[in-house]
Amino acid sequence: MNGDIMDFDGINFDEFDFENRIVDSGVTPNDLDEKESENSLRPKTLSDYTGQRRAKEELGIYIDAAKLRGEPLDHVLLYGPPGLGKTTLAGIIAAELGVNFRITSGPAIEKKGDLVALLTNLEAGDVLFIDEIHRLSHQIEEILYPAMEDYAIDFIIGKGPAARSIHLALRPFTLIGATTRAGQMTTPLRDRFGVVLRLELYTPDELASIIMRSAGILGIEIDSESAYEIASRSRGTPRIANRLLKRVRDYAQVKCSGHIDRAVACDALAMLEIDELGLDNTDRRMLASMIRFYGGGPVGLETLAATIGEEAVTIEDVYEPYLLQIGYIARTPRGRVVTRMAYEHLGIPYTQPDEPSGGQIKITND
Ligand code: ADP
Repeated sequence: MNGDIMDFDGINFDEFDFENRIVDSGVTPNDLDEKESENSLRPKTLSDYTGQRRAKEELGIYIDAAKLRGEPLDHVLLYGPPGLGKTTLAGIIAAELGVNFRITSGPAIEKKGDLVALLTNLEAGDVLFIDEIHRLSHQIEEILYPAMEDYAIDFIIGKGPAARSIHLALRPFTLIGATTRAGQMTTPLRDRFGVVLRLELYTPDELASIIMRSAGILGIEIDSESAYEIASRSRGTPRIANRLLKRVRDYAQVKCSGHIDRAVACDALAMLEIDELGLDNTDRRMLASMIRFYGGGPVGLETLAATIGEEAVTIEDVYEPYLLQIGYIARTPRGRVVTRMAYEHLGIPYTQPDEPSGGQIKITND
């Protein structure tokens, strides 16, 4: 390092564009436009669902056992970062069981009546899927407890002396909850799930086969080498892999014959400013900010969130899992630390975090 002030060429600290990130693992406005095509890409059977070997193996057994006994499947909680296939897997469970699949989400259930209506309309054995289940309000959660445990709901009609308690029997059903943050769920709710499965980030090989499958459905010509190139930049997430495939297809159609080979894939990804590890400008800026303003860390989550103008939960759910997985960030009791590998990737000379003297990065206001 030369001098006291660290200057990172080419990194603009003012421009965090969180809204339009192509490598966002959540559902973006573009995906909503393309909801149809996201649905068409969802595998329909367990054997078509790539990866997640352990979760699939377990589920396969529980589904067969439930079918043999003629009973509904026990309630299932799926957790893991966005875009890993929780909704898809829930739909597959319903299909494998041969029952109806009803979808809702925590924030969509605003009143107790909304949930009561959903539950009373379920047919025997149906699957009710609640996405973002950690966002259910406490009062609504309380309706779920007896519903999950005894297939019944208890509620009170009227007020004061005229109030009456009503007990309503439900048809047996399976609740599948999905959450990005199991830790934020209340213990009574979490404990009522008989099956709890954590979905893992996918390997590049798994993502490459997801890309080949999606390309087949969408009629995109791509060779396996290019699929692997896109896969290795998809942050372990199928939603990002499918999104990058579509953007590379656009590029290939406009710039050449439409066939995706490795050179076209690399050019398109370079245009999208996604590097060989799948990091985009926002990742690079976040890491560089941690180095520039906090000497590489440790920096607390809330402080980091304030520095880059993003919510702490989004950093934890969306940005961090991949950076942690590739070892560019480490979590310590005192906060997040940027690792030597990340410094090398950014081309910034490494300084030991918290080094008491020599080579420390000074905080500047410019
Ligand atoms: P989540 O509910 O975890 O946010 P989704 O189930 O909506 O994720 O999956 C996002 C997209 O990724 C879907 O379009 C789906 O087709 C694709 N996808 C997810 N998991 C897989 C998988 N294991 N195999 C193939 N495609 C997958």
